[in-house]
Amino acid sequence: MHQRSRTPKALGAGLAAVLSLGLAAPAALAVPAAPAADTDPVPTLVDGQETATPQLVTGLHESAPGSPADAARAHLAAHPERYRIDPGQLAEVAAERGADGRSTVRFQQYHGGVPVLGAQYLVHLTGDGAGQRVESVGGKYFTGLTAPTTATVPAAVLRDLALGEIKDPGARAGATVEDHGAVVVPGGAGRLARHFTVRAADPAGGGQAREVYVDANLGVVALVHDSRSSAPAGTTGTGAAKGTATGAAAGVEPATGTAPDFFGRPVKVDIGRLPDGSYQFSDLTRPAAVTTYDAAGEGVGPGLPTDLAVVHAPGPDFPAATGTVGATDAHVNAGIVYDFYRDRLGRDGLDGKAGPIISVVNATAWGEPLANASWDGSKMVYGGGNDKFRPFSVALDVVGHEMTHGVVENTAGLLMAGQTGAMDEALADYFGNAIEVTARGIPMTDPKAGLLGENLCRTGTPEACAGSRRLDNHRTTVDDYLGVPTDVDSGGVHLNSTIFSGALWDIRRTLDPLTADRVVYRALAAYLTPLDDFVAGRNAVLAAGQDLGLSRAQLRTVAGAFDAHGIRAGWQSRIGADSRTLLRGITGTGAPAVAAGRWVMASAERPGATEALYTGPITGGGGPTRLSPEDGRAHGYPATDGTSAAWISLGGQGQDSWKMEVLTRSLAGGPVRTLYSSPSRLPADVRVSGGDIAFRASDPSVNLNRVFLSHDGGPAVPLPLPAGHDVLSVTLKDGVLGWTERWVGDQGTDVYAPTVYSIALGKVTAQYVVPASKAKVGPALLTGGRLLWTETSGDGGRRTSIRSGAVDGSGVTDVVSGDGPNAPSNGTLTASDRAVTYQVGTDEQRGEWSNAALPKLWQVPLAGGTPERVSCNRGGQYRPAAEQGTRVVWVDATAGRSDLVVRDRPAGGC
Ligand SMILES: [Zn+2]
Repeated sequence: MHQRSRTPKALGAGLAAVLSLGLAAPAALAVPAAPAADTDPVPTLVDGQETATPQLVTGLHESAPGSPADAARAHLAAHPERYRIDPGQLAEVAAERGADGRSTVRFQQYHGGVPVLGAQYLVHLTGDGAGQRVESVGGKYFTGLTAPTTATVPAAVLRDLALGEIKDPGARAGATVEDHGAVVVPGGAGRLARHFTVRAADPAGGGQAREVYVDANLGVVALVHDSRSSAPAGTTGTGAAKGTATGAAAGVEPATGTAPDFFGRPVKVDIGRLPDGSYQFSDLTRPAAVTTYDAAGEGVGPGLPTDLAVVHAPGPDFPAATGTVGATDAHVNAGIVYDFYRDRLGRDGLDGKAGPIISVVNATAWGEPLANASWDGSKMVYGGGNDKFRPFSVALDVVGHEMTHGVVENTAGLLMAGQTGAMDEALADYFGNAIEVTARGIPMTDPKAGLLGENLCRTGTPEACAGSRRLDNHRTTVDDYLGVPTDVDSGGVHLNSTIFSGALWDIRRTLDPLTADRVVYRALAAYLTPLDDFVAGRNAVLAAGQDLGLSRAQLRTVAGAFDAHGIRAGWQSRIGADSRTLLRGITGTGAPAVAAGRWVMASAERPGATEALYTGPITGGGGPTRLSPEDGRAHGYPATDGTSAAWISLGGQGQDSWKMEVLTRSLAGGPVRTLYSSPSRLPADVRVSGGDIAFRASDPSVNLNRVFLSHDGGPAVPLPLPAGHDVLSVTLKDGVLGWTERWVGDQGTDVYAPTVYSIALGKVTAQYVVPASKAKVGPALLTGGRLLWTETSGDGGRRTSIRSGAVDGSGVTDVVSGDGPNAPSNGTLTASDRAVTYQVGTDEQRGEWSNAALPKLWQVPLAGGTPERVSCNRGGQYRPAAEQGTRVVWVDATAGRSDLVVRDRPAGGC
């Protein structure tokens, strides 16, 4: 539950478009003004985004006889002008009838036989027989899909592209890939993609499985987010569980015994008696079999635990070790959680069908003690803790949290990314907490009632142990939302969850707890769909409250709790910022290019659509215009000198014509010229300056990069390099080329050398060989008659110096020292002729996450001086591009989405 992704900050090498899940906020559902009991309610409609189909329609009262599934389908078909749904594209995935006489039918949208990611549409009915009526309808159905449904890029290529999301080559070598088949990623026309789960072989790969959707016609990653499971590959096999895992094995008889809990107190446990007279942790007294396994200090892989032993003893009294590894607590707590869902909410287990409930305790990760817990899609995995933390199954709220992830997966199926993933975490927190305080008889007014995981610490107070993980937090979207890109904590799923769970907890404290639990559960089980954001979550809870007959005053209480946490339509626009926005809601991971008053940026027209290049003026009027041709290919990684632009383009009309190219075009329009084209070698570092265009690409004969130069409109030709030398970055300015050269030196270690090359003279004019002890040298950059580069330095290589050398080779100076608290933290570097801008971030987060700890941009005069903050925006600041003077354009995540923004001068102190 505490896990936070440590995936590399390096942004993708491919043209990775990432679906921005924080779409423009839907309207917040208003509390109905006067729902008098005797009059027909007036339908309330919330528009959808990216679709003509409404997100939510409530207040319906329409007769719908027949089976719930048939009635639901007939209702949607009978109102084409209201729903704009083609019933032929819907497949029923679930139809559940609750004890209260209500039915929910959940449909999955298909596009030409291919499922549409996260597109589910739900119909809610009440009554039965001839009296059955539709009460409300909602979810996501995308009306604009025209994407092709056959792939042109071979599956093996798509698989390799998915593997490329593991950035560390060593980790990639042993990684596993699971192929889930074709899916349409929604947004605009949609994109046909193939969905893979990739799992790194070791922690260098980020330690996290990732869900990767690769565009099957462009061969670029369309969407990537963390998987639920943090489990490493290859630790245990997957497959059908042994009979005893489900409790279905013949000969296992229900029994009771005693086992010590973690604190050594004897506890009565429901167990199973095996035919040989021994006993194991298989609870067969409930409709769902509850089984607890012991990982015995090993890593635990995905799937059912076929290689692990169920907790076992020769007699019905279990030994002390059963308690100290957390097995007794896991087993007993799983039963408590099951009972809560069944008795209080009428749900039969995680899947709603009494499916097996499997816990694994005493797990490690990558050979290290594990102080964490997870739901991995099949089971709960609890770390055995470490010198600071107890086994994670000891905390009932943690067990409730992980098991609720199982409930979410089997109901709303929220995607584990951005606000959507944060809402998944929030629901897990809410129910984990509700289960604990209910089972322990803790009143909501108890000062400790809102704490999460507060008894996990071996020492210290509950308050200190919970830290910021508490639901009485008063966190708001506008003040506290942590704006991070999708490669940080999957877009902040853990960082922002307590904003939403805080609102739910306030509802529970203000209404009575039972009513709140039922309303939140109904929102989860009957309204939420996989792509919903915070505002859709608010609407879902209010709609569920209306269904359950909450009074107007109660509904106002619910709405007020969301208001108090800033969860209302348009909240993003209320976050203060000191920058000016050039382009909102950009997708993808590339950096902007700026020069002479113009910007160029790659983004998709709509989330999920293919990336194109846009350009616009940095100051003055005129909106963005499209620069790249409308040819169905992906375009990105631009460079510009303010007159023309050059960039990388990927795609093709069929798999034989698929190629990677460098294109160039005047910013004023006109023909597009191709400078480089290859079916297999991806060019990089495209640069433009006054008629010259440079980039690097691999030379197939030696598998090393060469600098390609197109001089004055001529063809792009590779420049010669000494044998065995490689090129890591390219820079170009006013007839001078620069690059970072690398080769293996005499001692067998890498040698790095920022290098200057005169185009007029046709030769290298300066080369600054960096001592091997400096380890890593970042991108080179020409500006103001000097060559700049970064070198890793102090703090264990986590900080970076910015150095500069004269283009004639006459000497090196430090621009920014790698010492001190605000030293650059990575190789991010941009500069005008006057000022150098860099990122001070937190590659290694220390302590609590906060907006203050997210990466920020700093600027220092090229001639040296005191660094200043570029902007006081509170969220993460990424991918800066310096224009002239002190002006900087960058990607800002403050608003919970990525915006291209600009400031003319540093904000100074913040
Ligand atoms: Zn969680």
